[in-house]
Amino acid sequence: VPESSNSLQAYAKDKLSEQMLELFEACQQQTSDLARKETCRTRLQKDIQSIYAVARLYLTGSSMNGLGCRSSDADLCLVLKGNNRPDPINVLTVLQRLFKSLSYVERTQLIRAKVPILRFREKGSDLEFDLNINNTVGIRNTFLLRSYAYADLRIRPMILVVKKWARHNQINDASKGTLSSYTLVLMVLHYLQTLKEPVLPSLQRDYPECFYALLDIDMVPEGPKHVPPYISTNQSSLGELLLGFLKYYATDFRWDKQVISVREAKALPKNNSKEWRNKYICVEEPFEKNNVARAVHEKIKFDAIKATFAESCRILQDRKDLNSIIPVRAII
Ligand code: ATP
Ligand code: MG
Repeated sequence: VPESSNSLQAYAKDKLSEQMLELFEACQQQTSDLARKETCRTRLQKDIQSIYAVARLYLTGSSMNGLGCRSSDADLCLVLKGNNRPDPINVLTVLQRLFKSLSYVERTQLIRAKVPILRFREKGSDLEFDLNINNTVGIRNTFLLRSYAYADLRIRPMILVVKKWARHNQINDASKGTLSSYTLVLMVLHYLQTLKEPVLPSLQRDYPECFYALLDIDMVPEGPKHVPPYISTNQSSLGELLLGFLKYYATDFRWDKQVISVREAKALPKNNSKEWRNKYICVEEPFEKNNVARAVHEKIKFDAIKATFAESCRILQDRKDLNSIIPVRAII
């Protein structure tokens, strides 16, 4: 048993917490999963440099932030420095043609979203990649999330279980008008920051030099190395935190009046600005301060999200069994 899970045992003495730990251990990204992604990234960067000589490719998202599952995709950001900002669609069109000639890539698909991406797979495997151009905020927030993930031993299991729960309940798909994984993670961090005895601080407030928004992008991955673990007085078990999280969003959080700010470690009052007006869910991006939950724009989806929190909260309070809200066996 690795040392980290030894100390995690202290937070998993009841059945629900034990089940959460078991799900985490079974599903968390393995060193070998990351190595495979990293090998692909290196190869791709080299091939891309045959066209864009000084381009740098960064692995971002859950592959790098400590919150990945074995089944998580690999998010990539291609950084093209220079004075004249290229049009992402043009670059992705060039890359799509290049990728079609690469022996280890298949099924390339250009997705014209707000942040356009090239989606593709490693040939003959189920490893999926999403590549964007110069969306460097994704690099910054990946390393911010990584620092939160490792600030307390309970964070990674807690978030993995919440992601699995949301996925199972079909409220974890921004392309279908529900919550992105990124939004869910910020919602969990916010809950842990605002407990009477917080499990997490605001790292942007406590370590501004590590998360300064204009820090040179090459320095960003160093940030987490300078952030020590947070010493919390809160000794709640994993199960207590999961129940508390569901209860917070089922009954305490005021969706119509509050904005979630992980940056400030508090709920901000919703003002009348364009970013928050007429939005069902307001979650502030820690660097760009826009709404990461803007995908939730239909009342019916918002109601489904709230209903899922309420229903799961009621069932879990009653049963104290993870299987009552997630089919653990089927997922493992
Ligand atoms: P999963 O394991 O489900 O793939 P993930 O952590 O990779 O989860 P995604 O929602 O797929 O989460 O987002 C991938 C990354 O893209 C995030 O970690 C973040 O860096 C960036 N990102 C996603 N949405 C936004 C957003 N609205 N604003 C800024 N960055 C975002
Ligand atoms: Mg991802």
